[in-house]
Amino acid sequence: MQQPKIVFLGTGGDSAVVGKQLKASGGIIIQVDDSQFHLDPGPGALVRAAEYGINLRNNVAILCSHNHLNHCNDINAVIDAMSLRGLDIHGVLVANKTVINGNVVDGKEIEKSYLTEFHRKLMERVIALEAGKRVGINNIEIKATATKHSDPDCIGFRLLTPNFNMGYTSDTGYTRSLLEDFKDVDLLILNVQNPDDNSDEFHLCTHDAIKIINETKPKLAIVTHFGAKMVDADVLTQARFIQKETNVQTIAARDGMVINPISYSVNLRQKTLNLFK
Ligand SMILES: [Zn+2]
Repeated sequence: MQQPKIVFLGTGGDSAVVGKQLKASGGIIIQVDDSQFHLDPGPGALVRAAEYGINLRNNVAILCSHNHLNHCNDINAVIDAMSLRGLDIHGVLVANKTVINGNVVDGKEIEKSYLTEFHRKLMERVIALEAGKRVGINNIEIKATATKHSDPDCIGFRLLTPNFNMGYTSDTGYTRSLLEDFKDVDLLILNVQNPDDNSDEFHLCTHDAIKIINETKPKLAIVTHFGAKMVDADVLTQARFIQKETNVQTIAARDGMVINPISYSVNLRQKTLNLFK
């Protein structure tokens, strides 16, 4: 069996960082057994995939949390690459309902989806998922989690695979539902846009991350989706601070970083054993 792998095609958060590509924004690739998932393909997804050796033709699914440019700008480009513009239609698009249908209130379109009608037809299945709902793809179970974000239907994801389970908070302010949704997850990826800005009700800051990690107790926490203030505050320093406050191994994602979630949990267990020698 091929080892599972998580590849960060980007770690940028706000427009200041993504706009200048101070950090990349191509999303996150998750490879488990023979399935490759592309999470939140933001601007530059094709370029970063090529740069970091990811073949997008192997995507079996695109998971898209919400209809904001930094999370779905390249959704059509990735579908085009996956399907060779329709020659080989395959794969599932799992997204929140704004990405699939736009935001329509009382028959009036408030927000258009980034997804074009043409590219929607190049996917084998298109599933609009709301928080609490599940879908199975190959041997992976995917559950949508709740968020508090300016796209009100924004979702996060919890993935249950045969070997490990992981969570992705997506863009969200701090809410108690996060503690339930990600309880006892092995690996938790948190979008921590700010170092210590509680005024931003729609994004996590370092202190929110500490509260979430302390409650959910993942084996490994990875912080990503960095905004300008987070970059200024130094993401490595912030990750170390989170680790010190939680006693949970925490790393700041880097563009192009590759993580094997299984070997990580093995390493962690060995480390814990050593402590008691
Ligand atoms: Zn957003």
